[in-house]
Amino acid sequence: MEFTECPDPTCIAPAEVLNRFVLPSTQGGEPFVRTVCVHRHWFMLPATSLKPSPAPVPGAISAEDRRRGG
Ligand SMILES: [Zn+2]
Repeated sequence: MEFTECPDPTCIAPAEVLNRFVLPSTQGGEPFVRTVCVHRHWFMLPATSLKPSPAPVPGAISAEDRRRGG
């Protein structure tokens, strides 16, 4: 699994790279990626526009929080 930062400048939440593909262009094809962040912002953008990956998200729900409930 690959992570990046949400391309939305007002969001900057961690986002997951769903897939990569190549779109035909006048220069012979440009690599694109599709991303979705934790707030369900979907983006399709050139792979070269991806921001550097932040720290991977180990898990959305903390195990410690669940233990406290018991
Ligand atoms: Zn977002």
